Amino acid sequence: MPGTSTPLTAEQMTAALDLWGIRWKPYRPDWATHNRNSAGASGPKNGVLCHNFGSEGRDVDQLAYLWDGDLARGMPGPLCQWAIDDAGVVWLIGWGRALHGGQGDPTSYGLMLNDLLPLDRDVVPATFGSVDMNTHAYGYEALYGVKPTQAQYDTMVRLPAAICHAHGWTARSVMGHRESTNVRSDPVGVPMWRLRRDVAAALAAGPTPATPSPPPAPAPKPVTPEEETMRLITAPGRPWAILSASGTMTIVPPGTPAATYTALGLPTTPGQVTVAVYDALRASSEAQKADAAGVKAAIDRLGTQVGQLATALDKPRAV
Ligand SMILES: [Zn+2]
Repeated sequence: MPGTSTPLTAEQMTAALDLWGIRWKPYRPDWATHNRNSAGASGPKNGVLCHNFGSEGRDVDQLAYLWDGDLARGMPGPLCQWAIDDAGVVWLIGWGRALHGGQGDPTSYGLMLNDLLPLDRDVVPATFGSVDMNTHAYGYEALYGVKPTQAQYDTMVRLPAAICHAHGWTARSVMGHRESTNVRSDPVGVPMWRLRRDVAAALAAGPTPATPSPPPAPAPKPVTPEEETMRLITAPGRPWAILSASGTMTIVPPGTPAATYTALGLPTTPGQVTVAVYDALRASSEAQKADAAGVKAAIDRLGTQVGQLATALDKPRAV
């Protein structure tokens, strides 16, 4: 039997849904502890059982029913782990043991257990069943009466794909309720062999999100050394050491307007200016990130080092 049968934690399950780009919503905040664990085991898990329930267009009522169960009929909730609405959204109904699978035919269960459900035909169970499927299978209820919407069907495929992927199972661990017991007909309108093939195709393609990701933002235009130099020179509130192309070092006091550079005989065309602190700035890892905050932090630090730089260059000329 490939894969692991240790039940997924609630966190592992939602992480699997996220990985596969499946939209999900808790029906109530305490879904992760809403279960029937007091009534029996919830594992080892061997597969996903697929159901449909209700009728078109009444998803809200159906969600409440699946959460609460039907006490008058001796069916306490939760009645599944997940519900899939017409828009293909997964509603988290419970986690742990849920009352959805009843008894399963032992031959059918053996196929699920050993990852052997067929991709070319549906299984016709011979018996009502004797295996506790609530122990061994996760179950979803797709909320439709006759035929799933396309969005709903997509999630009927991707949800078991995500769970099989998380467990290391193949699509051949996915079974329809009617394949598990001879007293059920759900999920109606869906050939299970085709659903398994679609799950297999999804697994082969891998957990890419169903919704296309936005196009990547264009790469930021690289900041030229000259541009960074001018940013240093015009930074307010601190002195800067400027080394001209000819090697002349000048300390420029805080607040010096850019026009003053011309009056000082300093080059103002970026391509003609070299600032010694620029090299130090480039050497700092923060500056190399080229993000505004990082550059600013590096500038702040370098502002306190200007005197040292001037000394090191040994060509200061105060103005
Ligand atoms: Zn069912």
